[in-house]
Amino acid sequence: MSSRRIQIFDTTLRDGEQSPGIALRPEEKVEIAEQLERLGVDVIEAGFAAASPGDFEGVRAVAAVARRATVATLCRTRREDLDAGADALRDARRSRLHIFLATSPIHMQKKLRLTPDEVAAQAAWAVGYARGRVDEVEFSCEDATRSDPVFVARVCREVIAAGADVVNLPDTVGYALPNEYAGFFDEVRRLSPELESVTISAHCHDDLGLAVANSLAAVEAGVGQVECTMNGIGERAGNAALEEIVMALRVREERLGVDTGIDLAEIGASSALVERLTGYAVPPNKAIVGANAFAHEAGIHQDGLLKDTTTYQIIEPKELGLAMTLPLGKHSGRHAFARACADAGLQLDEELLSRAFMRFKALADSGIVDVTAA
Ligand code: MN
Repeated sequence: MSSRRIQIFDTTLRDGEQSPGIALRPEEKVEIAEQLERLGVDVIEAGFAAASPGDFEGVRAVAAVARRATVATLCRTRREDLDAGADALRDARRSRLHIFLATSPIHMQKKLRLTPDEVAAQAAWAVGYARGRVDEVEFSCEDATRSDPVFVARVCREVIAAGADVVNLPDTVGYALPNEYAGFFDEVRRLSPELESVTISAHCHDDLGLAVANSLAAVEAGVGQVECTMNGIGERAGNAALEEIVMALRVREERLGVDTGIDLAEIGASSALVERLTGYAVPPNKAIVGANAFAHEAGIHQDGLLKDTTTYQIIEPKELGLAMTLPLGKHSGRHAFARACADAGLQLDEELLSRAFMRFKALADSGIVDVTAA
């Protein structure tokens, strides 16, 4: 059975950059975009062109260098945003305007102060205006998961009639549960069969720690695109992490039947570059790219790994440009200790090894965390 190929829409340079305190210069955006191309993402959302002259320049610079990926920029349903976006994307090999407008009662009443009829009309107008100015138009029903599915389906119908190529139903505030998010896609597709003619997209936030789980639930519900960021950076608790979605799809491909165009060998380098240029440190226990994601200190695990790495690893880190480590500490065993001595060029007989191991354990128990550095 061949896998269904889904699109990876990377928004590290837009939603990721909206993390408090991150401001990437155009040349830094270009450096990350070039790495994202090596990684093999399908779409690079490069910024929000109307947000600032610097961001306009960042989007323009990325559009000029991207050779393979579609380059997107975010826009409100305003003529000045759409004009700035289309202008910034002029040099793109393939361009996409990503237009958003909220569809939830909370946002429509409290933020936009627009009626549902006005929201539907503005959305359709903006998509119609964007169409023809760029290669592709994406429309997002902001705060979709707190919206009435009947109204979301109506907006989907109207933006598709106006020419949208991609329709995104984001969990903007990280509120949904996995089953519920999958059910939401099912319900909106049932109410708007027009969605079968476009690419349907998911976009999740990690406020409840469910961004990746929700993205995978959406993939199982049949979406054709997932929006995510390297290292899961993004507003508040962050976006769904690209590397986690991609590796879940890869490791569990037999069950999920879904494939991406990502080159796994570039994951480590992509994570390191985004960490360095954004200044957002990857937590050591972060899945896939954390410093400890393939580190094993416990003796029983180290013994198993030295016999066969598949005993305690479901991923071969070398395939991602990363390495397995066996740090020595109070939980480590004799097998890994002996290996470390041999690696350090120490030829110890059984008697010496036993004495050294006892002294090592005493040292480790004294509270020194990294014995190898002591
Ligand atoms: Mn977002």
